Amino acid sequence: DSLLSGHDLHKTYGSTPALAGAEFTIRSGEVVAIMGPSGSGKSTLLHCLAGIVRPDSGTIRYDGRDLTAMSDGGRSALRRSDFGFVFQFGQLVPELTCLENVALPLRLNAVKRKEAEARGLEWMERLEVADLARKRPGEISGGQGQRIAVARALVIRPRVVFADEPTGALDSLNGERVMQLLIGAARSTDAAIVLVTHEARIAAYSDREIVVRDGRSRDMARAA
Ligand code: ADP
Ligand code: ADP
Repeated sequence: DSLLSGHDLHKTYGSTPALAGAEFTIRSGEVVAIMGPSGSGKSTLLHCLAGIVRPDSGTIRYDGRDLTAMSDGGRSALRRSDFGFVFQFGQLVPELTCLENVALPLRLNAVKRKEAEARGLEWMERLEVADLARKRPGEISGGQGQRIAVARALVIRPRVVFADEPTGALDSLNGERVMQLLIGAARSTDAAIVLVTHEARIAAYSDREIVVRDGRSRDMARAA
């Protein structure tokens, strides 16, 4: 029933515990916000679920597969084909145009340039940034950059989008607009979103919230 789940996840950096028995589950098309204070383990949980960081112990299941039992190469291939990523900043390649950035995940999946750029441009249109196709990341605003990043995350039609503070560097108006566009794009493709945020206004766009404290997670009933 769940698309992606983590059970009893533990991760320690040196002597710093980042996760200490965290639980997580998400279904297809669901939007789950991971909240909690700085340093509580939110990013580490997201990185473990996305197969970027290997937990010290615990299990992660994605679409019937055990991620913790897969090789590094197997997990990289899965990330390229099934997962999209939006981070707080610094994720666009400065040497490439915005369109080349959006098309990049398709190119890494061996889609030919012409088709990759055509599909990239469609996503830029949906995110209302098609006019920036030939610009480079250094020539656009932070809000525009996050829309480009969302287009790039969605271009492979991922089954899960991992968004770590996607609006953290934006003012509240731009942040909410990027969030609306991200949620709308994901809903239209039935992608699940794992959203890390410390802002209640941003978490309010989710279907469900969990709170991480000291590396442990709790499900929160949404206040009516
Ligand atoms: P959050 O996202 O909630 O701010 P993090 O998952 O980034 O929390 O960090 C949890 C704890 O693990 C913090 O104490 C942080 O300093 C530590 N930590 C996270 N990543 C690393 C790392 N790569 N190396 C060392 N310590 C880390
Ligand atoms: P967040 O805004 O999510 O809390 P952080 O500043 O905690 O982000 O972490 C940003 C990145 O740095 C993450 O990828 C995290 O794994 C890494 N990191 C966090 N704390 C440490 C640390 N003490 N040493 C090394 N890397 C860290």
